[in-house]
Amino acid sequence: QKEKNDLPAASKSSFLMDTIVSMKVYGEKPDKVIEEAFQRMREIENEMSVTLKSSYIYKINSNPGEPVKVDSDTFRVIRKAITYAEITDGNFDPSIRPLVSLWGIGTENARVPARSEIEEAKRLVNYKLIKLDEEEKTVVLQKPGMGIDLGAIAKGYAADEVRRIFKKHRVEHAFVNLGGNVLVVGGKPDGSPWVVGIQDPRRERGSVMASFKVKDKAIVTSGNYERYFEKDGVVYHHIIDPKTGSPARTNLLSATIICDDSFDADALSTSVFVMGVDRGLELVESLNGVEVMFINKDLEIILSEGLKNKIKVLNQDFKLVG
Ligand code: ADP
Ligand code: MG
Ligand code: MG
Repeated sequence: QKEKNDLPAASKSSFLMDTIVSMKVYGEKPDKVIEEAFQRMREIENEMSVTLKSSYIYKINSNPGEPVKVDSDTFRVIRKAITYAEITDGNFDPSIRPLVSLWGIGTENARVPARSEIEEAKRLVNYKLIKLDEEEKTVVLQKPGMGIDLGAIAKGYAADEVRRIFKKHRVEHAFVNLGGNVLVVGGKPDGSPWVVGIQDPRRERGSVMASFKVKDKAIVTSGNYERYFEKDGVVYHHIIDPKTGSPARTNLLSATIICDDSFDADALSTSVFVMGVDRGLELVESLNGVEVMFINKDLEIILSEGLKNKIKVLNQDFKLVG
């Protein structure tokens, strides 16, 4: 019997799902487990990418008015996204595609659109016009010009699927980071919790401003620093408020959700970023087993009840309030 500290380990980083994915896995044949996990993520990307012409999402978006048959992964993610649209009263909306492509943030076509263009695209964003048929596994967009974008939730689904593969191979300790979507399995092999760092929103990737200890959790951050462009001193970031049709006007730099499943954490981090501190906290406190950490432009840290005293602030520019 091996000491747990001597468990074989493997790690890998790769560019996937439009971001840097890295993972460290402890257990038997960790390289094989990692390969299977990356293979699964590629599969999910191929199904749900909004730009790959072979994806189900591309097919749905190019055939408005027609029922498009999709695989069970895509169906599950669209259904979950609609559930979050319902519980956030449309602040989260998977039919956001017309606005995302109009602004083009993160692409070479990024620009500030005219008011009239925003109004026109906004009329096409309405999750209630996505119709699902559970029996047939079909999806219909009920207005021409509509489009689905799962960018705010697909990585969360992928992280949970990676964890399912780990469990199948009886991996008890792992750390996964899908470009800001962190998932930890168990604790470290020595039995201590994982230490998860929170990105300093002002600094280069990897600069950490706070940390906390966790086992078996998903930790997902949405921030205004991930993808954005600047014009005339204004920062236009990639999280759109469906009610205004423009990047969410907020005093937030980032919102981090901690809960059991990455699927929920990903949808909720985007949601509360749009909703802001007051409504975001209210939503999080109404849900079981969900916690949130906000950072605002005054570098204040706002925590939900269950996180109080759990966060270690590492950079004294940041102040815990409330
Ligand atoms: P990241 O992609 O950086 O991890 P998020 O998970 O917050 O960040 O997702 C942001 C992406 O989700 C955007 O790039 C866009 O594709 C999509 N999106 C933007 N605004 C919304 C919204 N209000 N509801 C749902 N999806 C959105
Ligand atoms: Mg998200
Ligand atoms: Mg995300």
